[in-house]
Amino acid sequence: MENILKYNCGICGSELRVPKFTAYDRNFNTTGRVFKIIECHTCGVSQTLPLPDLTELIQYYPHIYYPTGSTSEMYYKNHIERFQVDKLKKIQTYSQTGRLLDIGCGVGHFIRTALNQGYVAEGVEFSEAAAAVGREQWNLKIVSGDFLSNEFKPESFDIITLWQVLEHVRQPREVLLKIHNLLKPNGLLVIAVPNFASIQAKLFRNRWYHLDVPRHLFHYSPESLTNILDNCNFRVDNIDYHSSEHNYAGILGSVMRISPPGESFIHKLIRKTVATSFSRVLAKLETSISRGGTFTAFSRKY
Ligand SMILES: [Zn+2]
Repeated sequence: MENILKYNCGICGSELRVPKFTAYDRNFNTTGRVFKIIECHTCGVSQTLPLPDLTELIQYYPHIYYPTGSTSEMYYKNHIERFQVDKLKKIQTYSQTGRLLDIGCGVGHFIRTALNQGYVAEGVEFSEAAAAVGREQWNLKIVSGDFLSNEFKPESFDIITLWQVLEHVRQPREVLLKIHNLLKPNGLLVIAVPNFASIQAKLFRNRWYHLDVPRHLFHYSPESLTNILDNCNFRVDNIDYHSSEHNYAGILGSVMRISPPGESFIHKLIRKTVATSFSRVLAKLETSISRGGTFTAFSRKY
């Protein structure tokens, strides 16, 4: 039955044949539809198929996906800022100043932190509601809508970042080529994505929290992303596997939803306590052997 369906890789165009497994929306239950996860044997990327069109895709993003309500200063200080500072520290080893564009910036938490540290930072965000919060609440420079439809001056940015964004993009190659055009010569591109080659991805497969089908359309490994970047004239300089924000959460999220129906509160509490320790140990282990649940690729335009 599988042989009747033919797909082409959404990045390199090669013909795809062998499904890895099927998956559905376990994180938000926006649809009962079952998707195939298929790997391209040419560029190495895996993808969610059939690829939803834009109208369909928008229906797969529930309102709670954009936390536009949690914008109090205390919430930012307690739950948001340290993750943004961690991300920025990785960039500061390359460059401590410059003009920065954050693609898929949400309400603009990372832009705020970058501005505080002396960068000239702005963003683009698909959701107008999220972009409006950043503009109105903190006076940030954020344009809304599709990155490919927005106009920016060529060779005008020193740094472009995509934090857990590229996996949501329908046309990643087009996005990377446009980024190449917007970066100054030798400009820095920073891409953080879930790691499809991680221990947690292999362990939980279609129950992996960061698979997040059908919002995640492409599933990258360090090898496949390096190939794709190289093909778009970026040279990968370093891959970092540490993420205080996502690696531990990916394991805990995967374990916690394997919840038996009718489970008691006490039972659930015990399971959460055990799962917390297990997730900490596994996150540390997989990160130490370069198989962390997410990875960040630092590359230069050439
Ligand atoms: Zn391919």
